[in-house]
Amino acid sequence: MDTYDYIIIGAGHNGLVAAAYLAKKGKKVIVLERRDIVGGQVITESFGDGFTVDSLHAGGTLRPDIIKDLKLASFGLGIDSVRKPFISLQEDSNHLVLDPDPAKAAESIKRFSEKDAANWKPFLDFMDKASRFIHLANETIMPRLPKNFSFNEGLGLAEIGLDLRLMGGVDMMRVIRGIPMTAEEFADEWFESDVVKAAVASLGIHGFTLGVMGAGTGYTLMHNWANRGGMSHVSVQGGVGKISEALGSAVKSFGGEIRMGAEVKHIQVDTYTCKGVVLKNGEEISASNIISAADPKHTLLTLVGAMNLPPEFVWNVQSIKMRGSVAKVHLLTDGKHGIPAGTVAVAPSIKYLEKAYDAAKYHQISEKPYLEVTTSGNVVSVHFQYAAYKLKSGEWKVESKKVENVAIDTLAEYFPDLKSSIVNRKSLTPLDLEQTYGLTEGDLNHGQIMLDQFMFMRPIPGWSNHKTPMDNLYLCGSGVHGGGGVSGAAGRNVVKVLK
Ligand SMILES: Cc1cc2nc3c(=O)[nH]c(=O)nc-3n(C[C@H](O)[C@H](O)[C@H](O)COP(=O)(O)OP(=O)(O)OC[C@H]3O[C@@H](n4cnc5c(N)ncnc54)[C@H](O)[C@@H]3O)c2cc1C
Repeated sequence: MDTYDYIIIGAGHNGLVAAAYLAKKGKKVIVLERRDIVGGQVITESFGDGFTVDSLHAGGTLRPDIIKDLKLASFGLGIDSVRKPFISLQEDSNHLVLDPDPAKAAESIKRFSEKDAANWKPFLDFMDKASRFIHLANETIMPRLPKNFSFNEGLGLAEIGLDLRLMGGVDMMRVIRGIPMTAEEFADEWFESDVVKAAVASLGIHGFTLGVMGAGTGYTLMHNWANRGGMSHVSVQGGVGKISEALGSAVKSFGGEIRMGAEVKHIQVDTYTCKGVVLKNGEEISASNIISAADPKHTLLTLVGAMNLPPEFVWNVQSIKMRGSVAKVHLLTDGKHGIPAGTVAVAPSIKYLEKAYDAAKYHQISEKPYLEVTTSGNVVSVHFQYAAYKLKSGEWKVESKKVENVAIDTLAEYFPDLKSSIVNRKSLTPLDLEQTYGLTEGDLNHGQIMLDQFMFMRPIPGWSNHKTPMDNLYLCGSGVHGGGGVSGAAGRNVVKVLK
């Protein structure tokens, strides 16, 4: 039986980043992935002839320092330097077009408010500072509050504090006050037009089961802005799957192994020490250390098992809120769909967005959903909120049709040629996210990012430094601090805390 220095469970981008850094250091590493494709949520997949698409995450990029460290450009990763606009659709076709060029965006905003147009550039400057703070916080190992923490963890916190202070008093307070605010309040502080406010606030709910009037969506707004580097998605040449392919190639080039179709069934434990894993096919693989990039609930409750963990720890893990409410609808068209290039949102007003969220509260599917649409050639991809993982009535096998129909009907109100252009469709429900993509309760972030589950409380209080009660078991997926989004921070951070 082979023995590895590290087994990494899950070939999502975070697992691959951790594996690449470790392999680069000369460690003997194997990545075990249950699917037949690397990348987790960062993948480009085919659903049939001519129907190839970024099936989940619509765009984005890793941190530039990770791209450089791992030489990912040499493995074929190319990021589009020109960003497309963010377009917020309006019923009267007077769409708000937020071009990456601030002057052009201000021209469009002027149609809704002169004052908001003048505020756009100062707002962008502030969001740049806020994004820098979020990235710095995300690369910092959080202290294990309320437990003792190391001098280095304390230093990390001091560095974040200093960065905040150096922003200047006004912006520092804006960031601090913005964290617990609602996305509506956050946008209110800058803009008067409901159209502009709703476009900006939509970033606060994208991917989260929260409404724009929910506390903490000020923070998630800054989180998504930082991860995207703005309002629209960054395009990756050849699709987001190229990020994962490049990472996979980097792992192999440094001598690491990746096994596909290798689902871990359980982690072998002997009195708080992991010995290795058992795969679904019964094969055993042993290692000195295990790093899981799968979500914390799946890792700790299913793979390790509650019996092997302290009761209080188990209770905390059981309490992690996983609340998927995102579905995806992909439409293969004849190309005459009429939807412009860019990140196109159905987020016409603050009230519209909050009402869309009502469905999630009552375990339903929004009849008037918040949508974010991207196109790639003939394919239209629709991010749909809200579609509750746990439905009050009906089952997802049947209700997926409802999501498709609501998405198409909603978009057809803006693009009348869409319906007749559709030649094939593929929807992915929150249940598909769980069953196909391995996300417990369809939660994209491996646990909601909310005020009681972020920073030093992620994944649970007292265990925010990637470690677990098992001496040699670590976590590095989106469910830990640094996670959420495609920055790779969580995957890289874990390497910093290994013995
Ligand atoms: C529709 C959609 C839109 C999104 N939009 C945004 C956005 O705008 N902004 C943003 O910040 N984030 C967004 N996200 C979230 C972001 O994509 C994720 O947070 C990120 O990709 C997660 O990466 P990861 O590597 O941590 O985990 P994952 O990509 O989930 O990878 C985990 C891997 O572990 C594997 N695995 C699980 N269990 C096992 C097992 N037992 N054995 C072996 N392998 C296993 C899985 O198959 C998977 O490959 C979006 C996600 C989706 C789905």
